[in-house]
Parts: sequence; structure tokens; C-alpha cells
Amino acid sequence: MSRISTLGLLITLLATITCAFPAFGVEAEFVIHISVDGLRSDAVTALGPKHAPNFYRLRTEGVFTDNARTDADETVTLPNHTTQITGRGVAGDNGHNYTMNKTPSPRATLHTNKGAYVSSVFDVVHDNRLSTCLYASKEKFVLYHQSYNEIHGALDSTGEDNGRNKIDAYVFSEETNDLVNSYLIAMKRSPYNYCLIHLRDPDSAGHGHHWDVATGSEYLNAVAKIDRQLGAILQTIDDDPILNRKTTIIVTSDHGGRQDTTTHRPSSDAENYTIPFYVWGSGVAKGADLYKLNENQRADPATARPTYAEPIQPIRNGDAANLALMVLGLGPVPGSTINALQRLNVAPK
Ligand SMILES: [Zn+2]
Repeated sequence: MSRISTLGLLITLLATITCAFPAFGVEAEFVIHISVDGLRSDAVTALGPKHAPNFYRLRTEGVFTDNARTDADETVTLPNHTTQITGRGVAGDNGHNYTMNKTPSPRATLHTNKGAYVSSVFDVVHDNRLSTCLYASKEKFVLYHQSYNEIHGALDSTGEDNGRNKIDAYVFSEETNDLVNSYLIAMKRSPYNYCLIHLRDPDSAGHGHHWDVATGSEYLNAVAKIDRQLGAILQTIDDDPILNRKTTIIVTSDHGGRQDTTTHRPSSDAENYTIPFYVWGSGVAKGADLYKLNENQRADPATARPTYAEPIQPIRNGDAANLALMVLGLGPVPGSTINALQRLNVAPK
């Protein structure tokens, strides 16, 4: 066994032991992981509490940072969503290695691209008898459906056999209001334990009209639309006795975007690699800064772009997978390297 895989095994073992104990007091039955495509952190500040009351509710009732990072090398959509669901960076032996960003061929999977099975948050949740969903607003997210369906998903060797299809419901719609509404109908009927919801509007507005955070811009209007969708999700949680106090929300993004152009490249540009990361729910600290809660293990990178070699990492969108699993009382994604010890703290100190 190579040194790297021995280390990986040790990390997984340690994390499994860690998970036998309450995870910083934050536990939930349901995790809603929302990725807002192309969300600049400062868009929420520009809108302010009047025009983004629900983002501000997440800020005051939960924890957040406006200075999280994307993957260390890539600032495009599919690579960064793959990082969010696998807890791996894109490049290198430990990375998921998925760099394409187009709608994949019907035969493509993350595993054929990597040359090895690439586990995800969907695998761990589903193999532990819990339910999962993916509501996506871009067609290319079919990549995950193809990778984790009844043909290409891994055999379940954890406890009872829950099958190879790791995503119980895959729903695609470019209309995010329809997507969120159908998700909320499903949640009221029979809630999924873990769901990734992908909302495209800020990215579409950015590509059409720049990532412009001036008052009244198309881009800010798109972020305000997401705020209203967040409001609908929060209202459903407030009103539903099954979801209330048992649901954690994680909101992050795949990349930012530039105010002066219609792109989110190059990946070396701070406007592209700077993203927000919010966590809200029962047991989560109220109104706290995520870096202050994680003083000895994470470092606010200011304007820098740390590589994965830095001993103290920034908070990244790739933290989402293992944070979601920690909240659900489950161990980390096999093969993950970001937050693999599940030590990212979101509870009061
Ligand atoms: Zn994107």
C-alpha cells in the first residue's frame, strides 16, 4: 500500500472514530445543500437586508464567511460541483480529475474519467439507508445522475444493501422557481435526508450582462430572485413540524465572476475564486464568522489563493460534502481530502 493510501485510510479511520461522538452539537435529519451558480459574496452585501432578507437571515441566525474559496485550480461549474459532492480537489492523484464543463455524453461518468470509482456524499448517505436528491438547473448535471445510477453507482457494502442507485430523485429544470417549487412539494410529502439544489440564475445573468453588483443590475436582480427562493425554503422549514429544528442548510457557490466581463475565468482572479459559505440550522452558532469559529484549523486567506499544500486551509466549497455528512452523523466520503476529518466547526465555541 502506498504512503498516500495508508494516510487516506488513517484519516478515514480517525474520522469514523470521531463521528461516534456528537459532532459539535450540530445534528440534523435533513441537509439542504444549495449551490448558487456564480454567486459573488459581495452581491448579498450590495443588495443589503432589504433586498436579500433571507440571505441576511442565514447570516444572523447562522454562520458564514464571504471569503471562502473555490477549488484551488478551477473556477468553472462542473469541476467545482464535483468538488462539492466528493470533498476532493480537481487536480492530482487525490483529485476527482473532472475538468470538463459541457453536457457529457450519455456514457460519461466521473469514474471512467478518473479511471477509478469516485465516491460522493450521495454514496455515503444512500448506503446508510437515508434518502438523497439532486435538483439541478443545468442539463450538464446529468453527469451525476449517470455516475451514481443503478448501473454505475457502487455496490453497497455498508449494512443492508440499499442498491447502486445513489440519487433517489434527479430533477432537471432550467426554471429555478419551478425547480424549487417541485423540491418543496417533495419535501412536504416525504423529505429527503440530503439534497443538492443547484440554482443557475446569477451565472446566467453574469454571462449575459457582467457580474455587475451596481444597484438595479441584471446580476443583482438574479441574486434577489435566489433570495426569494431561499425564503420559500425557509418558510417551508418554519411551517413543517417534520423539518422544523431538524434541517440544516448549507449555501455556497461554484465560482464568482468578473464585474468588467461576462466570464468567470481566469481562475487566478480573486473575483472568480472568492465565494460565500453559509450554514444555518438547529445547533448552528448564531451570527458568527466561520473563520473565528475555526481559528486554529482554518485561515482566512485575505485576497490570496492558497493551494491544497498549505497546512492551514481556507474554507472551501469542497467542505460542503463532509460537513453535510457530519451533520447527518455519518463519516466522510471515501477518498475525500477536504474536511476529511469533519472538523469544520459550525456550532458555538
Ligand atoms: Zn457555474
